[in-house]
Amino acid sequence: MAAQRLWFDVGWLFAMGAELGSGRRAYCTSQAFAEVLRLPSKQLTKLVFPLQELERHFVPGSRPDLHLKIFNPSLDDIARAESVFTASSRNRIEYLSSAVRLDHAPDLRRPEVCFIGRSNVGKSSLIKALFSLAPEVEVRVSKKPGHTKKMNFFKVGKYFTLVDMPGYGYRAPEDFVDMVETYLKERKNLMRTFLLVDSVVGIQKTDNIAIEMCEEFALPYVMVLTKIDKSSKGNLLKQVLQIQKFVDTKTQGCFPQLFPVSAVTYSGIHLLRCFIANITGNLD
Ligand code: GDP
Repeated sequence: MAAQRLWFDVGWLFAMGAELGSGRRAYCTSQAFAEVLRLPSKQLTKLVFPLQELERHFVPGSRPDLHLKIFNPSLDDIARAESVFTASSRNRIEYLSSAVRLDHAPDLRRPEVCFIGRSNVGKSSLIKALFSLAPEVEVRVSKKPGHTKKMNFFKVGKYFTLVDMPGYGYRAPEDFVDMVETYLKERKNLMRTFLLVDSVVGIQKTDNIAIEMCEEFALPYVMVLTKIDKSSKGNLLKQVLQIQKFVDTKTQGCFPQLFPVSAVTYSGIHLLRCFIANITGNLD
């Protein structure tokens, strides 16, 4: 079931994909992305397609096992996705509400994506980076031990809802599994779960809680590797290859392509925005 859904998605993405380079023309877009488009090609690849940039560091002749271009949008597609994430009077991007139970969650009219990961994996930082084109959005962080953590809902215009799930592992609330499990299992408009893994340390024991949930409920999910600015190139390559192998051999519902990101350098952020806009049906 999960595999079927996955391959449907992949086929669809292939259909909309365009080659990098072919779309490098002037595009009416935000000033921020216009500046990205002016970067020299190597820097642009590093910023926008960090996984493809890593490929350059493999020993010549060795075959990297990474799936680099399953989702390979053109720069025009990425620019269009930027406008989905840009706040304006006609595109209100805002915190909606918080909930500790699914029946307190807001309405189901828009498609939804959720972000899940261990405490300290970089989830709040990533969500802030995704919302950098809507600087008034406040990403709430509650990190005090014992403080009840909630699911936080953000409205992205008329396009979709983004849900920041409570962090698991150390300091997770006792009822975390119940809350998250019920949400993942029952939320009808949930289009994709973004599961965050710290690229410095790779998949940890506690990450398996979330992986097993996604697998058990046959959810389509995506592995996002955080903090890629933080490790050496060698360590990053090692972790990325290990995680890729894990995804290829041990998962059914995980999208085969990894999404490395940095909330500090913004590497991978534009591509992730584009992926989200795409899977919520907003790049048609
Ligand atoms: P959360 O608990 O998952 O919400 O994690 P935070 O977003 O609060 O990040 C945990 C720590 O990692 C903080 O000290 C952040 O500054 C740091 N951090 C988060 N993302 C990045 C990143 O992309 N690069 C680096 N170098 N540090 C990061």
